[in-house]
Amino acid sequence: MLKSSKKISFYNIGCKVNYADLSQIREDFASRGYEIVEFGDNADIVLINTCTVTHNADADARKIIRRAKKSSPNAFIGVLGCYAQLKPDEIAKIEGVNAIFGTEKKFQIPDILSKIQSNQNIEIFCSGIDSLVFEPSVSSDTDSRTRAIVKLQDGCDYKCSYCTIPLARGNSRSMEFSEIIPTIKKLENAGYKEVILSGINLGEYRSSDGKLFSDVLKLLSNTETNLRFRISSIEPNLVTDDIIETVAKSHNICHHFHIPLQSGSNDILKLMRRRYNVSRYRDVISKIKDQMPHSCIGADVITGHPGESDKHFEETYNLIESLPISYLHVFTYSERPNTFAINLPDKVQFHKKNYRTAQLRKLSEIKRNYFNSSQIGHISKIVIEKYDFKNYTASGWSDNYIYTYLHNPNNILGEVVTVRISKIIENQVFAEYLELL
Ligand code: SF4
Repeated sequence: MLKSSKKISFYNIGCKVNYADLSQIREDFASRGYEIVEFGDNADIVLINTCTVTHNADADARKIIRRAKKSSPNAFIGVLGCYAQLKPDEIAKIEGVNAIFGTEKKFQIPDILSKIQSNQNIEIFCSGIDSLVFEPSVSSDTDSRTRAIVKLQDGCDYKCSYCTIPLARGNSRSMEFSEIIPTIKKLENAGYKEVILSGINLGEYRSSDGKLFSDVLKLLSNTETNLRFRISSIEPNLVTDDIIETVAKSHNICHHFHIPLQSGSNDILKLMRRRYNVSRYRDVISKIKDQMPHSCIGADVITGHPGESDKHFEETYNLIESLPISYLHVFTYSERPNTFAINLPDKVQFHKKNYRTAQLRKLSEIKRNYFNSSQIGHISKIVIEKYDFKNYTASGWSDNYIYTYLHNPNNILGEVVTVRISKIIENQVFAEYLELL
């Protein structure tokens, strides 16, 4: 039996929801008396939470498994997460892996490990994804205790052409509405200052009593709390007028949206099976900017989806250039098994995909610099998450998502400060301190 006096380490790959899930599992081990050590230190058990969103994510997982085996040659190595759910047999072939846990089993790992007698055989604990229930998870950032992630929703009912996530995480399911306030109160009492509201398709939030994501935002807005809230990412077709108005009026929801675009061509959006067109996207961005002129808007874009011609790409580039988007996360299309796109004709050549990605990353930098400069003189609130004792410089994210530096003789780590954005030096944004809240 693997005893609880053992040392255990963790490694996460992938999105905020994955991070929250692994944090939750780590807390469970800690409460059972396991000693948590850094990944790379010698451990008796290593758990690796994987992602499978791209080909590279799978490769990263394999690399991390090999690193774990090297740093802890005698450890029991368990692999969980989306890659584990979709390709357990592939993972089982990697030397050193002892157990693989699918989506349904990952929150049961502490119980399962307490029953495993030895690490001589490879055990696969994977089942279907048809009857998954919502498992709450909250991240714990033990270093600075400033920002926490709360998973409000999991899974996805959409069928985007390129995406394998619904196959790994199952159908959409949500946290009970009545659980939200107790969860955030716990985080507030633990000293957190910001909560990131996360989900796989967050806008699809629907509690068992029919509450929607807009109801969650209203609830949080009307709650007396020192926390501020940030929406992690929301699909454009799910950004309703009600959501925009609620955020605009709210004193505690950050004026920051991350709204996946994926392509600026209606032809490609259709092929991607996305549920909006360019005009809808444009409309959402313009409504947000009308009501919140200082808001930061980020977007995901995929380059090189099958069928994306030079003209389609040009449409994407021109659309982004014309919209008040502040930054991009650019992904190069990667073929995923069992997706619709894998069978589409007109594959884009490798060098073209990479060229387009590079073009959009350059555009993202330009837009980021433009947005940051446009905020000079603007008053913002920063949650201080780092303090550099050598240079007496505090830093953290503003409510509208600008990483901001601030000279201050005192260590104000974990505080919320009001500042005025004052200058930009070598792409770093500086602010003058106005008051400590
Ligand atoms: S909305 Fe589309 S891209 Fe996002 S998780 Fe669902 S299927 Fe994947």
